[in-house]
Amino acid sequence: MDCIFCRIVEGKIPSDTVYRDEEIIAFRDINPQAPVHIVIIPRKHIAALSHLSESDSALVGRMVAVANKLAEDEGLSEKGYRVVINCGKEGGQLVPHLHLHLVGGRQLSDQVG
Ligand code: AMP
Ligand code: ZN
Repeated sequence: MDCIFCRIVEGKIPSDTVYRDEEIIAFRDINPQAPVHIVIIPRKHIAALSHLSESDSALVGRMVAVANKLAEDEGLSEKGYRVVINCGKEGGQLVPHLHLHLVGGRQLSDQVG
């Protein structure tokens, strides 16, 4: 399987990593849509949000907690920020490895998509 985010997890593709633990890593998006744009992923390959199983719930909770921690680190907590998960083709998911986008540092549009 040739998954770009798995390759980042393995260290085979360089990334600007801002967080890592045993099950989650986070790095700056290569094509940032805002002053802060960080991608948060599980180390284990999960293809999409729609592929989550019941036993992944705690993992996803910890990914959200990492997003909050990084928002704090980046000085976004007071001003606000957005956490997004794209799922599937019409959801705008380009990389088929579950990820959260943490976006902030500017006024975001009030549109959902
Ligand atoms: P999505 O459209 O939700 O699948 O988002 C995938 C995100 O991954 C996009 O915002 C890309 O800019 C980002 N991305 C793709 N390749 C890399 C990479 N090598 N390093 C950092 N971010 C990446
Ligand atoms: Zn993967």
